[in-house]
Amino acid sequence: MKVPEQKLGFGFMRMPLKTADDQTAIDEEQLNEMVDLFLQRGFTYCDTAWMYHAGTSERAVGKAVVARHGRDEFTVATKMPDMMLHSKEDVSRIFETQKKNLQVEYFDYYLMHDMNNVNYELALKYDAIEFVKQKKESGEIKCLGFSCHDTPEFLDDILTKYPFFEFVQLQINYLDWESAGIQARKCYEVAVKHGKKVIVMEPVKGGTLSNPPQEVQDMFKAAHPDWSMSRWALAFAASLPEVMVVLSGMSSMEQLDENTDWMRNFTPLSAADRELCLKAAELIRKTIPIPCTGCRYCVEASSCPQNILIPNFFALYNTRFLMKRKDFSPEEEYYHNYLNQGYGPASTCIGCASCEAVCPQHIHISEWMPKVAEVME
Ligand code: SF4
Ligand code: SF4
Repeated sequence: MKVPEQKLGFGFMRMPLKTADDQTAIDEEQLNEMVDLFLQRGFTYCDTAWMYHAGTSERAVGKAVVARHGRDEFTVATKMPDMMLHSKEDVSRIFETQKKNLQVEYFDYYLMHDMNNVNYELALKYDAIEFVKQKKESGEIKCLGFSCHDTPEFLDDILTKYPFFEFVQLQINYLDWESAGIQARKCYEVAVKHGKKVIVMEPVKGGTLSNPPQEVQDMFKAAHPDWSMSRWALAFAASLPEVMVVLSGMSSMEQLDENTDWMRNFTPLSAADRELCLKAAELIRKTIPIPCTGCRYCVEASSCPQNILIPNFFALYNTRFLMKRKDFSPEEEYYHNYLNQGYGPASTCIGCASCEAVCPQHIHISEWMPKVAEVME
């Protein structure tokens, strides 16, 4: 599989806009300048998807990247929107439309988008996995993978069943690395176990890690006064040896200039800097609402009659709380993936308090459940 020389990927899901509230009003002039600088500095990986920017991202990438540059100057990645499939015909129709949108004869990288329990069933129902496998064999897809926000167990299952997937796209950042809800480290380790390369999404957690609590900023500044907070977050993900690309949804020339300037000479974090990132995660966790440590006593030493996955739901609630963006958060999707696996929703808590009896942090778990339900459901 072709691995890009540079580890920074341009995520075309937060492009500059002419009108702030209109996702289709892409500022093409600014985008062209950003694309040119990105490629000039030796970066190649351009990531889009069928639904980004209300369905206009692929066409924008076709115009800004493909139509204006030689085919050997860039690689393009897009995704089959599993969640939007309603028939077998949708699969081939969408694939052919994507080729037209992007003005390409082949995709350098192609992913099944957001594989989880529900979307996997749709992909099976409409033969989408078999379809992309055949496209790989015919050469219309050069490298085949999938993105996943589900559990390490689900990821392991898919990679075991379908060894022809060559890479996976995972949510990885220093805050989610040891999160009980997102389990980024475990997912990464599953990918490595299967010998897969990893593409990282949400390395700055939707902008959350570009503005962490002051204590964290002071700690980072003391170590490297000239590093931005975003740089720490991107560097954490990019330092993982099996990560081939870290996606950044760059929205301005300033962001792109900063990221490409230091990433073109990227060297992995030192062990001491990596430790600082993990310490930062601990400090950030202290600012979050529920002081759950993820010890899992409540699910292992006790048994919830409603089968509520307490620590995982608390971790998702806490990180959702930190997100700067309030309109969208992948935490909700992780939550619903757990429900699809048969865990009880937070809203079904009956307040029996058997979990509270074993919680070393003395958390009033039953009092938090309605709040978790309000945000996640
Ligand atoms: S209080 Fe709620 S979450 Fe805790 S064990 Fe009882 S039903 Fe489950
Ligand atoms: S027992 Fe308390 S601290 Fe431990 S995982 Fe459960 S809620 Fe969190």
